[in-house]
Amino acid sequence: MIVYVASSNPGKLRDFRSAADAFPGISIEPLPGLADIPAPAEDAPDFEGNARAKAMYYSKFAPGAWVVADDSGLEVDALDGRPGVRSARFSQDVGGVESGDGLDADNNLALTLAMIEQTDRTARYRCVLALAVDGRVEMVTHGKLEGEVLTDPEGAGGFGYDPLFYAPELGCTMAQAGLEDRMRVSHRGRALASLLRQWRAC
Ligand code: IMP
Repeated sequence: MIVYVASSNPGKLRDFRSAADAFPGISIEPLPGLADIPAPAEDAPDFEGNARAKAMYYSKFAPGAWVVADDSGLEVDALDGRPGVRSARFSQDVGGVESGDGLDADNNLALTLAMIEQTDRTARYRCVLALAVDGRVEMVTHGKLEGEVLTDPEGAGGFGYDPLFYAPELGCTMAQAGLEDRMRVSHRGRALASLLRQWRAC
């Protein structure tokens, strides 16, 4: 069985594939033709709204196929849950912080600056997955991982905020962990395992 992933983020696709390794017979593939499909607006106030909207939208481009879409991000307690659904756009939201090293580095710099005065460094990654067929959402699952925002980045793996996100369950940042360990505990790995378990049981 094939589940198509509606994401062009190579970090996410790699994560999904690794998390699906525990489910023999289920293959995770990028949605065919994704690069040519105009991206829908991501303007829902929460992760679930965006995941549902993306899954409904993208599944119409692959009639009869199972299509999964995710929305995910980082919630920082000292920042009242920001960047949250705006995680990919945090550097723009705080006034266009530029590191000169690409969007992930911009966002990490923006987060480091926003946290300078903060002693409460607790945060969590959240992921919501929606599985749809022919524009109808059939299943929604949630995953989260609790952690802390470091003052300095550590590690070169992963993507996004991973070098700044320390995961006590792993004893290191997400950027220092190996792919398999990361997926065992990650918000995305947990949401996908839950989705595939339920889907297989149907
Ligand atoms: P979106 O789900 O594509 O809207 O983007 C979510 C954003 O949240 C990403 O661009 C990253 O900045 C951040 N994010 C979500 N999941 C992860 C993760 O597993 N590691 C690091 N950053 C993440």
